[in-house]
Amino acid sequence: MAGRNHLYIPGPTNVPNEILNAMHVNMEDHRSPVFPKLLTPLLQDLKKIFKTETGQAFIFPATGTAGWEVALTNTLNPGDKVLIYRFGQFSHLWAELAKRLGFDVEIHQEVWGKGIPLDRMEARLKEDTNHEIKAVLATHNETATGVTSDIGGVRKALSAANHPALLFVDGVSSIASLDFRMDEWGVDGAISGSQKGFMMPAGGAFLAFSQKALAAVETSTYPRCFLDLKDQMNTNKDGYTPYTPALPILYGLRKALDLLQEEGLENVYARHHRLAEGVRKAVAAWGLTTCAQPGFASDTVTAIIVPTDKDARDVISTAFSRYDISLGAGLSELAGKAFRIGHVGDMNDVSMLGAIAGVEMAMLDNGFDFKPGVGVAAAIEYYRSTAN
Ligand code: PLP
Repeated sequence: MAGRNHLYIPGPTNVPNEILNAMHVNMEDHRSPVFPKLLTPLLQDLKKIFKTETGQAFIFPATGTAGWEVALTNTLNPGDKVLIYRFGQFSHLWAELAKRLGFDVEIHQEVWGKGIPLDRMEARLKEDTNHEIKAVLATHNETATGVTSDIGGVRKALSAANHPALLFVDGVSSIASLDFRMDEWGVDGAISGSQKGFMMPAGGAFLAFSQKALAAVETSTYPRCFLDLKDQMNTNKDGYTPYTPALPILYGLRKALDLLQEEGLENVYARHHRLAEGVRKAVAAWGLTTCAQPGFASDTVTAIIVPTDKDARDVISTAFSRYDISLGAGLSELAGKAFRIGHVGDMNDVSMLGAIAGVEMAMLDNGFDFKPGVGVAAAIEYYRSTAN
């Protein structure tokens, strides 16, 4: 098909040409005396995205899933209890990973469409007077349902309970696109990946740990090798890595950090909010609802529920085969019931209008009942009235 496939899945996202070009490099000697000139500033600048001055940033040639594992196996001991609220496929997968690694996982099943229930979390932490819970695992942005949780509120719940558990946050689909404040919110381990807000291909797990978490690394007896933070610390301090680095990922990250700093993080967050609002206006105009309940809507992804007599998979397949746009599928419980529009990364008004128009055509082709153009019109009005 002429033209190009338009990627509106919530990661991997579109890679800007500047980043693609920056990644197109020949290999270099990663033990040369000049290599630290690349790595050391990267690790420093990464901290600004996490908004941490006191923490330490890390880069693994891996993905977000490895980030989950790094956090748990470097700071905890085998069999330790961890607390997780599960309200979508990614919080589910993190809980499953923790179980498979042999941790004692206390799972609280929540409604898909809402986020972490702060009051109940606080009550549970207060009840844990012996401090058996060693870590709280919080999914900041549940990509499967398009739900954002209040991480500042999670820290308040821990403080109100005077609970010493480590706070680990999955920011794979939030960091570098949604407001994230590691130091202010007292996050002990923040986990992200290259293929969403960082606008890069997959293959980089970007993490940051607090001094409290790094102290826990010293006492953790969990066996680890490839994902060992100590090996990173021992080599990163001189500007090197414990094994061969994924050089294109490092060069891509350099450009991504420059682009994010150039736009300004607050502007990046505001852009994501505005683009998401336009999508939500279109959803309302179509007479549909989002999976996210009021107060939980994500600014990086919207999961749209289809009427019960429709199958969301048909919309996704028509959109792909007829209009060359890629949408996110409904995952697990939401399979067939929802499709997702990603609005994360290198997007602007017109890219979102492309997504909305393509979705609208695919829905009309599948017999959805609304007037052609209503979603696009609602988004256009919103984008025009809020344009700079
Ligand atoms: N956490 C969230 C919120 C995600 O959206 C994803 C992937 O989409 C992951 C974790 C897993 O990351 P990866 O696929 O990079 O391993």
